[in-house]
Amino acid sequence: MNGMFCRRCKSLMPPGSNRCRSCGATLGPESISNQSSLDGIGPRKPKVELVQESSSDAPYLPYKPRGCQMDIISDIRNALNEGRHIIIESGTGTGKTIVSLSAGLEHAKSCGKKIVYLTRTISQSDQVMRELKAISRIKTVSGLTITGRNKSCPLFRGTTGYESLSPKVLSMMCEEKRSKSIKGQAGGCRYYDRIKTEIDNVESFVINDFPTSDELDRYCEKIGVCPYEMKKQLMKKVDVVAVPYVHILSNDIRQNLMANLGMEDSPEGILLIVDEAHNLVDAARDQESFTIDRDLVDRAIDECSTMKGDPTVWMEVSLKDFLSFFKNSIRNVATEKLGLNEKEVIIDDDYIEQRMMAKFQMKSQDLDSAIERVIDIGEARTELLMESGENRVSEIQTLGISMRDWCSSASSRFVRSLKIDQDGEYLSAKCIDPREISVFLNSVPGAIHMSGTLQPLDQYARVLGLQGNPRFRIYPSPFPPENRSVLYVNDVTTQQKEMQKDPSMQNRLERYIANLCNSVDKNTLVFFTSYYFMRMMRPYLETHINKKLYWEESRNQRRTMENLTAFRNGRDGVFFSVMGGSVAEGMDFPGDELCFAIIVGIPYPPPSSEQKAMSAMFDQRYGAGKGWVYTSEVPALRKMKQAIGRLIRTETDRGMAVILDSRASRYVKQLDAKLTDDPAGDAARFFR
Ligand code: SF4
Repeated sequence: MNGMFCRRCKSLMPPGSNRCRSCGATLGPESISNQSSLDGIGPRKPKVELVQESSSDAPYLPYKPRGCQMDIISDIRNALNEGRHIIIESGTGTGKTIVSLSAGLEHAKSCGKKIVYLTRTISQSDQVMRELKAISRIKTVSGLTITGRNKSCPLFRGTTGYESLSPKVLSMMCEEKRSKSIKGQAGGCRYYDRIKTEIDNVESFVINDFPTSDELDRYCEKIGVCPYEMKKQLMKKVDVVAVPYVHILSNDIRQNLMANLGMEDSPEGILLIVDEAHNLVDAARDQESFTIDRDLVDRAIDECSTMKGDPTVWMEVSLKDFLSFFKNSIRNVATEKLGLNEKEVIIDDDYIEQRMMAKFQMKSQDLDSAIERVIDIGEARTELLMESGENRVSEIQTLGISMRDWCSSASSRFVRSLKIDQDGEYLSAKCIDPREISVFLNSVPGAIHMSGTLQPLDQYARVLGLQGNPRFRIYPSPFPPENRSVLYVNDVTTQQKEMQKDPSMQNRLERYIANLCNSVDKNTLVFFTSYYFMRMMRPYLETHINKKLYWEESRNQRRTMENLTAFRNGRDGVFFSVMGGSVAEGMDFPGDELCFAIIVGIPYPPPSSEQKAMSAMFDQRYGAGKGWVYTSEVPALRKMKQAIGRLIRTETDRGMAVILDSRASRYVKQLDAKLTDDPAGDAARFFR
């Protein structure tokens, strides 16, 4: 039930899957993180002054208000009282977590709502608990952070193969243990057995101590109870639950969450706070996207051979024949439609479905019922596999569900294609228009969406399909603007066309980077638009920069974290990274940990069939040109703002960013950037 992240591209992983929907990587358990890569590197809060008692202006604000905090609280209060969503961009240092909680609690407590606080990482959830603890000094509040079974189950953790168990399998294993416990049979779960006896103890620990996720897990384990089940029991009793995005984005998980909150059919009882909201749309698209690997199809066909008999799925059509012909149809797309040396072909019709119907003389509803039968057979197989101790989901069941998803993805909301990678061909259905989340969000009357980089706010609302006249608000950072300088040069670019035209471009970029790094005695982060560029320039940079150099390793998370720690502990090193990744977006580098950023190129997303289709969709919906703005300009600008935002995390931080790309001239206003013809000199003077 936990949010899992691809370690290659940091996207949310679909529950139970080992292929990332975003980058297509096939990943082993060691490549999947259950808390994104950022945990343990928590934000450092700006200095705050505690108040001694609750004020009538902001009864749940435990600190003396700074900057525009009272405005934010008042705007949120008004929007929520009118039953609207409020979409906020507020700069670093505005205290997004505390102001949203303060305003949210005021509203939620007055009308009996529960706050569901969506976070991207566990460290953000822990921050929610710390702020609730601060609020508890002046007002009665309570909260809980929710994580998945795979993080919290003390019974199975430590058993062989635990790391590779899918959430679904773990849920079934747990279900079996619990059912034995409930029936008083042998072989139940000892941690579940003690829930009733210990619930008061845990509740009082939660109410009094506001434990972080880890602290609560450890406490429960120490007294011999299941943290996961305990959290389920306590959810109804607290004011705020902090959960990873996936708890709202996945239909199944959301339904469980709502049931545990006691609000199955009443989303109006929820007040939603979306932290780092700029990630929500992509996460929602990822949640609905999926792939069908050739490996999965092969494994399902092999599994048929291990079954007694060969069950039929429709009339005389056997399961094995049905799945084998599905495989044959995928092959056929590759041989018929894929050109020489092509890696992808768009499937813009129901070619595979039609082919299967023709082969077995089925109508559309027959095909649907045959696929349902595949799923039923698969479910029965899963039960057998669990009973026999194999502890895995039947491949037939997994494939059946994927086939059903494939048939229902034949719409303009998806770009369907056949792709080829080193593991062979596979089907991909990429969601470009996430609707599941829109339906849910629109059923919640009142939500706070906030981020430091969310503009243009109306675009965010449009893409999410938010109705009901949401309010838009922008609040500046309270930190002195003179502490931050953004420069750009106009004689280099990473634009492919220009680099091909001018063979000296790469070396000019390399020289700029090396000169800039050598001109400043400060910790420096160099952001590239891709690992490709980083690799390409690495040999030159390694020989021309006279400093300790550290690199983000694209496939080695542990090495990256070690390098990053060493970089942060030093004061005159250079860390090379890629924009849009965990370093550029999720980490704070207060004080001297980071002073100087060099941005090499404008991080427009690479062209892809999904990009093209999304752009055409926005052009059609919102007017010509909007597609480019929504799918390329806005994401690139956000990535640059996120990268630049790493520089100033407290009121005393000073930092400079230099963008090495003439196309930055288009974003002078949004980035408050100035042209320079002597960036190394300007940087040296700024820091002197
Ligand atoms: Fe694990 Fe808790 Fe389920 Fe027991 S009840 S199996 S400890 S998740």
